[in-house]
Amino acid sequence: MAVGARRKAVVVDVGGVKVGGDHPIVVQSMTNTDTADAPSTVNQAMALALAGSELVRVTVNTEQAAAAVPRIVETLDKFGVQVPIIGDFHYNGHLLLKKYPECARALAKYRINPGNVDIGRKTDDNFRTMIEAAVANGKSVRIGVNWGSLDAALLTRMMDENSKTAEPKDARQVTLDAMVVSAVRSAQAAERYGLAHDRIILSAKVSGVQDLIDVYRAMAAVCDYPLHLGLTEAGMGGKGIIATTAALAPLLLEGIGDTIRTSLTPPPGGDRTEEVIVSQQILQSLGIRSFTPQVTACPGCGRTTSSFFQEMAEQIQTYLREQMPKWRPDRPGVETMKVAVMGCIVNGPGESKHSNIGISLPGTFEEPKAPVYVDGRLLTTLKGDRIVAEFIEILNGYVETHY
Ligand code: SF4
Repeated sequence: MAVGARRKAVVVDVGGVKVGGDHPIVVQSMTNTDTADAPSTVNQAMALALAGSELVRVTVNTEQAAAAVPRIVETLDKFGVQVPIIGDFHYNGHLLLKKYPECARALAKYRINPGNVDIGRKTDDNFRTMIEAAVANGKSVRIGVNWGSLDAALLTRMMDENSKTAEPKDARQVTLDAMVVSAVRSAQAAERYGLAHDRIILSAKVSGVQDLIDVYRAMAAVCDYPLHLGLTEAGMGGKGIIATTAALAPLLLEGIGDTIRTSLTPPPGGDRTEEVIVSQQILQSLGIRSFTPQVTACPGCGRTTSSFFQEMAEQIQTYLREQMPKWRPDRPGVETMKVAVMGCIVNGPGESKHSNIGISLPGTFEEPKAPVYVDGRLLTTLKGDRIVAEFIEILNGYVETHY
């Protein structure tokens, strides 16, 4: 399936952000602050939104957290940050949504994990209470199944039934089947309790790449709810980024996925916004959506003995990312701009010509000058110690005249 042949999902409104249909795949993230600590949560939600997160989820795990939610939403609003806030509920969501109606009103969507409410049991009053809160407040819901907290009764029943068949499937397959069944049946129950079909998003998160691909393909085939994609517990740093990319890319290229999250474990005190940048980069690298002008840089080799060009590539990418909050509303299209920062003249001018703006820095033994190409033509040649500053001036001028 080529990029763009998107699976047709119904469109779900999440606090004004449309998820599904032909709407752009939405990038979302989750805070890791204590939600009861409203100032810290506001600060992190703002940072995530500023980095480009279009939905931000917060855990609502205690009464204090539920009480803080309206303040968080109000403060974000006062600061002009319009990002919809989603509540992540486990075990006690029915109690919190009932006892804190302002929390229920302030949230744009509720995430319900069918594995830890009573859906599928004799009485599913808790699940029903949460759905009724969503209906009463006109909110959307994500039914989010997780491998680590899969409905044990359902899984046992399906394992049992499977063992009695002529050709039993292996346990992994039955577990993945149970995740799909849990998500879809919970969604059907939610509809029976009055939630509109176009108020439901589904997810089925696992931590294995091949498992994620299989479970989402199966889920995509049996329903038209929008799908929230993400590899759960992806891990830290390079491992988390690569595993998430490996899992999401094939699905996105097959047209599966309407909103994505990268679940990175940041180092202590690390920057939470990295998960937003990774999600954006996955979509942009696949040619699905553009967020920030991209810097093409060569890997460097023995022809460049100084680290100047690597530093310059880094500085330019950072500069471009920092400008985006300012450029995004006023300079539509700037996110598709391509910039090349190359280490020498072997591939430098060629790559520069394929970019909107490109610079080739002098390699070892080359003349100490840096040709700059704009829209495929040599504009000027920079030299001296103001190369970065002068290149940024050229970039700014280009943005002003072209977007
Ligand atoms: S462009 Fe030059 S410096 Fe960069 S990898 Fe190629 S040969 Fe090496």
